Amino acid sequence: MSNVPAQRATAHPASLTQAGTSPSGNCPDCGSDRMTALAMTLTDGTPVQFASCHECEHRQWTHEGSALEFRDVIARATKLKI
Ligand SMILES: [Zn+2]
Repeated sequence: MSNVPAQRATAHPASLTQAGTSPSGNCPDCGSDRMTALAMTLTDGTPVQFASCHECEHRQWTHEGSALEFRDVIARATKLKI
């Protein structure tokens, strides 16, 4: 009984074209163009684009074309008063 569910996360097809334009092209770290970009909104309402590299797992956020510091993103994202 080797009925493995469809959960093979090994090789994704290279056709995962997300909506929207690619962030800034290539990864600033390794130069790979295998970047995934997502649009998201921080807790304070700032719309940002999150991009992550599949090769080296570099991650970056950009807002209106300029890169955000990771700590800045965290600071904005943790403005919740609990
Ligand atoms: Zn990279």
